[in-house]
Amino acid sequence: MTLPRKFAEQIAPWVLMIVLATVWWGGARLVRWSGLSGLLPSAPAVAHVGPRSDAPSSVPPPVAVRDPLPAAATRGDADEDAGDELLSAGGLPVITFHDITNLRHRALTVPVEGTSPAALVPSYRDTRDGERRHEAMDILADRGTPVVAVEDGRIAKLFDSKNGGLTIYQIDPAEQFAYYYAHLDRYAAALGEGDRVHRGQTIGYVGTTGNAPPGTPHLHFAIFKLGPDRKWWEGTPLDPYVVWR
Ligand SMILES: [Zn+2]
Repeated sequence: MTLPRKFAEQIAPWVLMIVLATVWWGGARLVRWSGLSGLLPSAPAVAHVGPRSDAPSSVPPPVAVRDPLPAAATRGDADEDAGDELLSAGGLPVITFHDITNLRHRALTVPVEGTSPAALVPSYRDTRDGERRHEAMDILADRGTPVVAVEDGRIAKLFDSKNGGLTIYQIDPAEQFAYYYAHLDRYAAALGEGDRVHRGQTIGYVGTTGNAPPGTPHLHFAIFKLGPDRKWWEGTPLDPYVVWR
C-alpha cells in the first residue's frame, strides 16, 4: 500500500463524518430559517391544574345572619373501605379541584326562583355565632319565594332542626353530593322522602325557620361531598359560590 493511499483510507472516514455533520447542521439551520420548525413536534403543553386565580375571596355578607351547622358536617364512625376515594384522617372525603369542575359542568340551577347566578354573594368563610365557619351560601329573597332543586336527584331526608328549621337533603343522581336547603317556610305540597325530583322543580319556599332572623328570609344552601357510604348526614362541605363562578 502506498503512502498516499493509506493516507486516503485513514482520512476518508473523517471527511465523510465532516460532510455529514455539515449537511445535518445546515439542514437544521434551513428548517429554522424557513419556519418549518413550527411543524415539528415539540414538548407537550403542561396543563395548569390548581385553583382559579379569580376564585372569590371572602366578603362581608349583606346582612348579619345566624345559621345552622348542618348535620351533614358531623363526623360519623367512618372506617369503611375507602375505595379509590381520597379520604381525610377523619374518614371524610377530601374536596378536589375535580369536584368543583364536575359540579360546574352540571350548570346547577340557582335554588331560589328569580335569582340569577350574577346576583349570588359568597359567604362560605364567614363566621357564625362568633366562631363556626358558615360553610354555605345565603340567598336572600322574599318569604314564600319558591326554592327549586338545583338538578335532578332524590330527596334523602326532610328534617326539622333547631338551627336549620325546615330542611331538605337532596342526593344527586351520581350519589356523589348532597344538596342542603335550610330555613324553609314550608315544603312543597306532597314532597316526601325518597321522592325523585327534577332540576327546577319547586321543593319548598323561602322562610326563616330555625335560627334565621325573622326579618331576613333567605335560603341557606350548602353542598357536601358524600363519604364512601353515601350517608346524607355525612360529608365534606365545599363552597357553593365557586360552582357558579
Ligand atoms: Zn346561611
